[in-house]
Formats: sequence, C-alpha cells, structure tokens
Amino acid sequence: MAFGYSKVYGWQWEILPCPFCEKGEISCKWYPSSSKVSLNKTASLPGQGSMSKSKEVWIVLSGCSKCGKSQDEVESELKKRGLI
Ligand SMILES: [Zn+2]
Repeated sequence: MAFGYSKVYGWQWEILPCPFCEKGEISCKWYPSSSKVSLNKTASLPGQGSMSKSKEVWIVLSGCSKCGKSQDEVESELKKRGLI
C-alpha cells in the first residue's frame, strides 16, 4: 500500500518516549494548528481557563513495543501528562 510521503501541509513527525516504561518509542505526528483555531470562542465560562493550552493536534501512531501498552493507553497517558 502506498502510504506515501505526501507533503501534507504542516504535519510533523516525532518519536516520543513511552510514558509508561520510557524505553519504548512512540511514533506520533502532530499538526501545528494555525489561524483556524479561534482563541476567543466563549470567554464566558468561569473556571475553564486551561482549555486552550495546547494548540497542536497530536495523533499517536503506535503503541509501545517494549511494555505492550496500546496506542490508546499511550495516547491518554501522554495527554494526562500534558505532553501532547
Ligand atoms: Zn512502554
């Protein structure tokens, strides 16, 4: 299958260490979100200050081959830690 290295605008590829065992390598790609994201959506929600912390869109492409965590587990752990 031709997954191809088409130069889709703006996608960046990155290898992150596994958040569980720190030995595995997690393939990710992320997209630096640009002017599409409006920062002044609704400023009328008190106590919701940290919603727009990360502006990038991250996609975890693999799980950990060392400790066997799945793609979903790795992704939610990385998000919980604020890494993606
Ligand atoms: Zn791991």
